[in-house]
Amino acid sequence: MTDGTAANDVESVDSFRDRARRWLEDNLPPAPPNQLGETSKSAAAWTRAKELQRILYDGGFAGICFPKEYGGLGLTPTHQRAFSEESRDYEMPLALNIPTLTICAATILDMGSEEQKRTHISAVLRGEELLVQFLSEPRGGSDLAGLTTRADRKGDSWVLNGAKIWSSGAYAADYALCLARTDWDVPKHAGLTMFLVPVRTPGVTVQQITQVDGSREFCQEFFDDVVLPADAVVGQVNGGWETANRQLFHERSAVGGASPYSSGIQSHSGRDVSGLVDLARRTGQLADPRVREDIGEARALNMVHDQLIARITHGIGSGALPPAAGSIVRLFSAQNSWLQADMAVRIAGASAATGTTADDAGFGQAGQDYLMRQAWSLAGGSTEMARNIISERVLGMPREFAADRDIPFNQVEHGH
Ligand SMILES: Cc1cc2nc3c(=O)[nH]c(=O)nc-3n(C[C@H](O)[C@H](O)[C@H](O)COP(=O)(O)OP(=O)(O)OC[C@H]3O[C@@H](n4cnc5c(N)ncnc54)[C@H](O)[C@@H]3O)c2cc1C
Repeated sequence: MTDGTAANDVESVDSFRDRARRWLEDNLPPAPPNQLGETSKSAAAWTRAKELQRILYDGGFAGICFPKEYGGLGLTPTHQRAFSEESRDYEMPLALNIPTLTICAATILDMGSEEQKRTHISAVLRGEELLVQFLSEPRGGSDLAGLTTRADRKGDSWVLNGAKIWSSGAYAADYALCLARTDWDVPKHAGLTMFLVPVRTPGVTVQQITQVDGSREFCQEFFDDVVLPADAVVGQVNGGWETANRQLFHERSAVGGASPYSSGIQSHSGRDVSGLVDLARRTGQLADPRVREDIGEARALNMVHDQLIARITHGIGSGALPPAAGSIVRLFSAQNSWLQADMAVRIAGASAATGTTADDAGFGQAGQDYLMRQAWSLAGGSTEMARNIISERVLGMPREFAADRDIPFNQVEHGH
């Protein structure tokens, strides 16, 4: 990613925006009605997302903030924002934003080897690869450094054994960034290594999990003697915590709606109140003072959200704030998503429970968004963990007690 100070030979944002507007009109179909609210992706939807990404790539609009040598455009976040705004009304490969582009490709860009960057970032930008995250484990996702999936060195290779869970989209993925324990004789943060694991390789079993809204996005994986080559390591052997931290930074930015690598506007960050206005109009409540007040509040908070993103991004970029400040946007985004989902249900009333997602009025969507609102307080690290990070790493308050700090992992007691 380049910084905001465009060199003289870089196309101005205005000219880029004009060119993008014309190109989008000529090359992409209008957005389908469910594009913003989609939580469940069929195999056909993934194929379509890859096709759309290829169209962006061939048209010269893929990977706006990724460097040119890896297939991107090497432009600034301001160019990216302009493109995302212009693309709002068109069908876009939004499914590729989280986690493929904004989290995994961004982490490979920061921490991967030259070979990994050339191979995987360009494949992602051409729409040829989907990347996912294998971080959380059945025993707990918040205590990420306490994970027990293991990778043991055997000659030049590694052998992976264990299990992961809550991996979004793994059933459709090509590769996953997988954190495993490679040294059990050192404290928990020091013995981890990040691997790039081919998802469809012998020894990996992927099972889909049905969510409360009926979608089957989440997966659980089992690893049985999966053999990985030495060059599958991302970053340093036993330096996985550093790679994971970079990944979590990108995840918080993406989930908070602040990633410069996101192409197109994502819905669940709760930044679009047009759905609330439509719902109020359809239910004949547009003149109701309470409803107007709710919509006004939702709009105001969206503006705060945008300002917060700008301020925090600038603060981190200039060094005035630590990277951990990304958790502030992440926290606000979840709170805002809850508020927007609650307001939609207040406007829709009982119809939120009885409507289907296919109904034009948006009743079913309001009900579904309500069921899924809890997810936005967990995805990308939970709201409680965001508060912990803000207090400890941004505000400098005392660290939370940890019984396993500085103790070799093989001496730490684990529940069974
Ligand atoms: C939509 C969605 C997508 C996801 N996608 C992925 C993915 O692609 N890959 C992946 O690996 N994971 C993914 N996850 C999993 C997610 O990262 C975990 O759910 C999250 O890290 C929390 O872990 P847990 O569910 O194991 O909860 P736990 O860690 O068991 O925590 C339970 C509760 O206790 C709280 N808690 C725990 N420890 C503390 C503490 N020290 N202080 C205060 N409160 C605490 C937590 O905040 C939480 O509310 C996804 C989750 C969601 C909802």
